[in-house]
Amino acid sequence: MANLDEIVQDIADEMRRRTDRGEVASYIPELARVDPNAFGIAVIDADGNVVAAGDSDTPFSIQSISKVFTLTLALGKAGDRLWRKVGREPSGSAFNSIVQLEHERGIPRNPFINAGAIAVTDSILSGHQPREALGEILRFMQFLSDDPTITIDRAVAASEQRTGFRNAALANYMKSFGVLDNPVEYTLGVYFHHCAIAMTCKQLAAAGRFLAHSGLNPATGSLVVHPERAKRINAIMLTCGHYDGSGEFAYRVGLPGKSGVGGGILAIAPGKASIAVWSPGLDAAGNSHLGRVALEALTKRMGWSIFGV
Ligand code: GLU
Repeated sequence: MANLDEIVQDIADEMRRRTDRGEVASYIPELARVDPNAFGIAVIDADGNVVAAGDSDTPFSIQSISKVFTLTLALGKAGDRLWRKVGREPSGSAFNSIVQLEHERGIPRNPFINAGAIAVTDSILSGHQPREALGEILRFMQFLSDDPTITIDRAVAASEQRTGFRNAALANYMKSFGVLDNPVEYTLGVYFHHCAIAMTCKQLAAAGRFLAHSGLNPATGSLVVHPERAKRINAIMLTCGHYDGSGEFAYRVGLPGKSGVGGGILAIAPGKASIAVWSPGLDAAGNSHLGRVALEALTKRMGWSIFGV
């Protein structure tokens, strides 16, 4: 344990000193207000020990990391029928790209690019009012983290709602192919709000534990998903979790992971740990720059890459 403690502290100290921090996302105006020097990390090992450093208790906008949890919920409701509306191949394009959608007749490549996540949100929304669907997503996050205090940052949601023209284009385009069942404004409203859920590194690492332990959340003893489904969600995180930087993340870190433009990354070391890092500066692909650097250092020093060493 002392070892992990020391390593996490070392990494946080090093990240504090680095000056190459990437660019904070500004296309959602509210996100541009975040302190670019923030850095947090939380690791929860198989025994439930929480090892954290830096700003690990500061809530940040989880943005696209929410897509892991909406995928989990949607698969629970629709099962394999979900794959009629969304693929599971890496996209090789930007998170908000529209070009592929035309070639593929409105079926997004995977659930983690924006178009795919909007299709997944639409599936959760079916048969419900937007408020109920959003409540269900939020309660799911609270249940997984075992923390009822998690909330949605309404200012971030409103900011994206005002400026989310690209996402509106993606949604309308999918609607024209009949991929979305609900009114576009309802689906987008739920999507923007679940992206605006605010969580700390500690809460996020707790929420990811079921993925590190074959579907079981060891903290609460609840089987969140069947082991096979946990395995598959991890596979999609590995191949698609970092947009067009997914190959680079697998190469350098070697873990299933999901990033968000708020600067967070959730990474899963199967059987070993659930890890959340946060540093708001992004690289060119829209992934947290120092978040990735920190995870690379952690997996190297702990020998946690799923590919060995
Ligand atoms: N809400 C963001 C968007 O749709 C999520 C993108 C991200 O985190 O990568 O643009």
